Amino acid sequence: MREDEKGSEGVVLTCPYCYRSTFKQTSDLRRHIRIHTGEKPFNCHHCSYSAVRREHLNDHLWRRHKIVAKKRSQTVVNLSL
Ligand SMILES: [Zn+2]
Ligand SMILES: [Zn+2]
Repeated sequence: MREDEKGSEGVVLTCPYCYRSTFKQTSDLRRHIRIHTGEKPFNCHHCSYSAVRREHLNDHLWRRHKIVAKKRSQTVVNLSL
């Protein structure tokens, strides 16, 4: 049987839109909800591309425009559940 549905300690937040993703922090849930609400705060200044996360925009800048974005100190959250 599947074991990936067993509960973890603490409060688990569930996305109210897709009910699939679970998050341990409210900030992570809010960031995920942007996918459903369409809020993409990171806009490309060179085309109409917009991204939810800065990493996605940086990746786009490099792949599409060959621009290396300035890297600020950012925390990479690995949501490997
Ligand atoms: Zn969701
Ligand atoms: Zn672009």
